[in-house]
Amino acid sequence: MGDLANCPRCIANFIAGTAAVCSQCRSKEEQGFQKVYAFMRKKHEWLQRKKFKLLREFLKDKLGNS
Ligand SMILES: [Zn+2]
Repeated sequence: MGDLANCPRCIANFIAGTAAVCSQCRSKEEQGFQKVYAFMRKKHEWLQRKKFKLLREFLKDKLGNS
């Protein structure tokens, strides 16, 4: 497979060629990504709800005035 290399993050030995960083750092990165992804999805849902609410209020306003 690959040669032993030092992880640029934690300087631990790992097999080079499988990834740029060792498996520990890689799983940490994946966890971080999952957190960011969950946060973005939550924020997106919140924005969609807010947009929908604004639109509903806008329509109610329009209908109420006409
Ligand atoms: Zn590492």
